[in-house]
Amino acid sequence: MSTMLIALALLASPPDGPSADGPFAQRGYYITFMRMPTYDLADWRRILDGIRDDGGNTLLLWVGGAFRSEKYPITWRYNEEHENVRHDFVRELIDHAHGRGIRVLLGFTPFGYDGVNQYPLEHPETRAVGKDGKPAAAFGIGCWGYNLCPSRTESRRFMIEYAREMAFDFYPNADGLLIESSDYAICHCKDCGGHFFEREFAFVRQISDELWARRPDATIVVFPHYFSGAQVPGFGVRAARLPFDRRWSLVFTPHSSNPEPSLMKQARGSLWWDDSLALHGPRDIRAGARKARDLGVSGYVPSLEAFTFVTTEAEEGQAWLKGKRQVPLGYGWLAPGDPPYDELPMRVNRIAYREFSRNPDLPFEDYKRVLGRELFGASSATQSVDDALELQAIFATERTWCQPSPVTSPERVRAMKERGELTTRKKADYRAALERLRAIEGRHGAGRSPGERELRRVARWALDRWGEGGGTLLEAD
Ligand SMILES: [Zn+2]
Repeated sequence: MSTMLIALALLASPPDGPSADGPFAQRGYYITFMRMPTYDLADWRRILDGIRDDGGNTLLLWVGGAFRSEKYPITWRYNEEHENVRHDFVRELIDHAHGRGIRVLLGFTPFGYDGVNQYPLEHPETRAVGKDGKPAAAFGIGCWGYNLCPSRTESRRFMIEYAREMAFDFYPNADGLLIESSDYAICHCKDCGGHFFEREFAFVRQISDELWARRPDATIVVFPHYFSGAQVPGFGVRAARLPFDRRWSLVFTPHSSNPEPSLMKQARGSLWWDDSLALHGPRDIRAGARKARDLGVSGYVPSLEAFTFVTTEAEEGQAWLKGKRQVPLGYGWLAPGDPPYDELPMRVNRIAYREFSRNPDLPFEDYKRVLGRELFGASSATQSVDDALELQAIFATERTWCQPSPVTSPERVRAMKERGELTTRKKADYRAALERLRAIEGRHGAGRSPGERELRRVARWALDRWGEGGGTLLEAD
């Protein structure tokens, strides 16, 4: 091969190959846009700019239930306050993303989850059957409804028309789709039987063919449940064994989608998803990046989910949440319209993502130096960096998708007490964490940098939550 041909071959290397900037061709986040009704286009532009700052080039944007479908208004009626249902700005947001070098894939779940699960409210014949042979029970996160049976003609018609409307009519400028197979339920009716994933696949194949006919370069990310033949986590059934089209990309997760090396070799790209940024801290983010690198996936795209919907059901079995607006990442000092991603505890994680997704082997001390420089300036003190890590850890401890950390939420601790879950050990742990917050506040009384003043402010906010008798909850027995 001549030098020229080698150069051309290099230029023509596939877009999803390894990049010079670390082991991952795709970096970025998975965001459940539909569960964040309170942010407008200006907010989302800033969020996109932040993703670019973190080295991101990919956004998995879950828009099911969050656009004003003309054919199926039932899919967004529950989400009427969502800024995109009101002002339909996602097309502009995608243009903005492209200006920042970020590709946007539209996320939704076939026959389930947000938006789609509202259809059986008007068309009960589409409702799935549960494991017990009875009609599926209501379920959701924010958007409660019923998953659909893909063997029903009406379910299939609805599903393809809804996906077409999203991808072709509303957001044709998107770069593709994330077709996220449900992680909580399938249909167990006689027609679906052991063939649920074959039924679901018929939809996946059809919408993929239709999108590729319009945009041959579109990225379509799917689950391995149609191809691998392996046990599907959580459902007690096997995946289908249907032919794999090399144009598909795959996504793997710790809880719902086991890595499949032989499929990965055939796929255009493959992504590793985890909850390290949303629920955990820098060491978990580093572990996630290493796991993704060791798996050999082409992208590491963890969750950056934060919720701001008003809870209508007892999410996670917690009645005390009902009627309250979700607190994004547990940062209760924010106004409902303020995105949480630039707040100090999340900056700790975003910087970790940027650094460890570029170099999963970066020593933790090197990350701490970068963190100190960015949060507190060139002359940052080691103590301030340790305090930032401590603050992040306190906000992440025992946090769940819908519940803030107990140390920042007396309401949650009260509910724990009522259920008999507030053990002597837990109370001691929470008191110790409050002592650490007091120490942080005390150390940064005359904060030299804006970062140090923010440390003090956030610590004070958490401590203030325990005024007015809340503190008695944690008194030793
Ligand atoms: Zn069925």
